Amino acid sequence: APKHIAIYGKGGIGKSTTTSNISAALAESGQRVIQVGCDPKADSTTILRGGADLPTVLDTLRERSRTTIESISAIGFGGVLCIEAGGPVPGVGCAGRGISAAIDLLYELDVFETFKPDVVLYDVLGDVVCGGFAVPIRDGIASKAFVVTSSDFMAIFAANNLFKAIQKYAPTGGARLGGIIANGLQASYARPLVDDFAARTGTRVVGYVPRSLTVAQGELYGQTVIESAPRSEQADIYRAVARAIVDEEETTVPHPLSDPDLKSWARQWGDRAFAEEKKLVAVGGGI
Ligand code: ADP
Ligand code: SF4
Ligand code: MG
Repeated sequence: APKHIAIYGKGGIGKSTTTSNISAALAESGQRVIQVGCDPKADSTTILRGGADLPTVLDTLRERSRTTIESISAIGFGGVLCIEAGGPVPGVGCAGRGISAAIDLLYELDVFETFKPDVVLYDVLGDVVCGGFAVPIRDGIASKAFVVTSSDFMAIFAANNLFKAIQKYAPTGGARLGGIIANGLQASYARPLVDDFAARTGTRVVGYVPRSLTVAQGELYGQTVIESAPRSEQADIYRAVARAIVDEEETTVPHPLSDPDLKSWARQWGDRAFAEEKKLVAVGGGI
């Protein structure tokens, strides 16, 4: 049976970049992969397809009376089947309901039976894990979920909200947590901060993806680094993350922090970060 894996994270944190590189790495190793973008931005799979646009499932549903697999998907790098759920008409519909309708359609069209994937990746916007955006982890669609985060408070806050949703739905058949993918950590305190957040919420970091110029350059060509720079260190890092998330069997039900606890936890890290900065300035290092 295919593994259905959801990757959540705050907007702009690097979900689509990470997910697309994971898809490309899995495809390169011979696996059949489907990537489903569940973000109204509908650009999840862009770097798997040379930067081209793809009609979304929701747009297609609105415009056509009959929908086919071909009209809502495209084959990208390495044979990855790319799908974008899309979003509502701005200011009108509910994005979450759209995700639900899009996933229902994939089952109606027998996309999974027809394509026979080894892995299905859902790239899901996780700023608010409202009922709609929780669909992939709530309704037994994905069996495990990962979260992409940096050390920024808003990204950690979004991760903590995802943990709340998992904690709520896991007991009734929802997805369990596979872990954290740390993306673009820069400050000296960033890694210990993310590690500490993982420890306190009962999970672990499955991969650290550095901020990289290779990623930015690849994006300009509409390519993952697996395609644009297959021999780069960054490509190897994504290959390792891909293996880690597919193989990860030690899933957990996390214990998120309450909002006040999360704030006081962040404040302690703020104190530590400022203290470190002062020390650096004192020894003439600066930043
Ligand atoms: P999301 O899907 O979470 O909204 P994206 O994957 O679109 O975020 O990433 C946002 C921006 O950050 C993109 O321009 C992307 O190329 C860049 N980015 C993400 N991860 C990295 C990284 N590790 N190194 C360099 N740039 C990155
Ligand atoms: Fe937006 Fe979620 Fe409300 Fe739908 S349920 S309108 S996706 S916040
Ligand atoms: Mg995205």
